[in-house]
Amino acid sequence: MKFGTKAIHAGVAPDPSTGAIMTPIYQTSTYVQSSPGKHKGFEYARTQNPTRLALENNLAALENGKHGRCFGSGMAAIDAILKLLKPGDEVISTNDLYGGTYRIFTKVFQNYGIKFHFVPMNDASKIKEKINAQTKLFWVETPTNPMMSIVDIQQVVDLAKNTEAMVVVDNTFATPYLQNPLDLGADIVVHSITKYLGGHSDTVMGSTVVKDDALDEKLAFIQNSCGAVPGPQDCFLVLRGIKTLHVRMQRHCENGRKVAEYLKGHSKVAQVYWPGLKDLPGYEIASQQMRDFGGMLSFVLKGDSIEEAFKVLENFKLFALAESLGGVESLAGHPASMTHASIPKEERMKAGLTDSLIRLSVGIEEAEDLIADLEQAIG
Ligand SMILES: *Cc1c(COP(=O)(O)O)cnc(C)c1O
Repeated sequence: MKFGTKAIHAGVAPDPSTGAIMTPIYQTSTYVQSSPGKHKGFEYARTQNPTRLALENNLAALENGKHGRCFGSGMAAIDAILKLLKPGDEVISTNDLYGGTYRIFTKVFQNYGIKFHFVPMNDASKIKEKINAQTKLFWVETPTNPMMSIVDIQQVVDLAKNTEAMVVVDNTFATPYLQNPLDLGADIVVHSITKYLGGHSDTVMGSTVVKDDALDEKLAFIQNSCGAVPGPQDCFLVLRGIKTLHVRMQRHCENGRKVAEYLKGHSKVAQVYWPGLKDLPGYEIASQQMRDFGGMLSFVLKGDSIEEAFKVLENFKLFALAESLGGVESLAGHPASMTHASIPKEERMKAGLTDSLIRLSVGIEEAEDLIADLEQAIG
């Protein structure tokens, strides 16, 4: 089945009791048993819920995986993956990554005796330097947030083959519409569903998707034991959102290209980071592992002044200044003071995240209107 058909049909079927075409919101905490242990596959709603199950199966299909697991947020999904580790284990991660992920690594799991190494993952030699017998996870984000650097997933998978470590890819930015890490040999895909999958800025949720049965059993155990599960209303909203994922992504990519090209030609813009720009170092890999380049981009103003960047952000009329990304409406953000404020300045600067960097989540409005807004805001 092709992607757009899967987005609409995978995992969902008309409700057997009524024929309702939309998956019902099973707003229940428990399920009746006819005799102790005799039931229809559902016992208690932390463990299973039919609305959540439909979504989990849909996500598994979109990522060409076998098992999806939904969590109360992207961070809760990341938390669940880290709970696969033990004290003494080590993680090798991209240095340019989501601020909340950096925070849970360094401020939460480091306290439990897990060690994290942050390296520029587009340089294989830097990854190799940190590999040892304790390496248990490779943590990949690509495109990275907010620098849009590209990590060669296949290359990390190849490096992991000589170790006992699993490869996790945070596929939030690309979505399964643009890239499928499991097809390249990654073990776990993690999503902040809050972003493109939900797509309408109305839900916070996360997920894991894997192929391996034993690995899914471990994640299911953590999902049920730790209990960070989403409610059925939110699962319904996400199932609804995903039905247009392919259509939205197509427009996000088209608008991303138009905005990136416009900014590239702007006399006040020093640098544009969008994976589809040929002069960026990750372009070749991005063209191989992604089907298109998405709607996320960042740019820096000439002179690199934080005051000028703040003026642009305050001037926007259509782009909303807000955290988050991936919704139908365009958003602008200032990573250094917003999403990435929890990363120390010296770590940020190593990744090229300067104080004046502006990140855009290009929505699916008319590109002409978005460009007109940039024109008046930058001046
Ligand atoms: C937002 C985000 C997360 C965290 O997800 P939440 O749903 O906000 O908990 C993780 N990774 C990336 C790349 C994100 O953009």
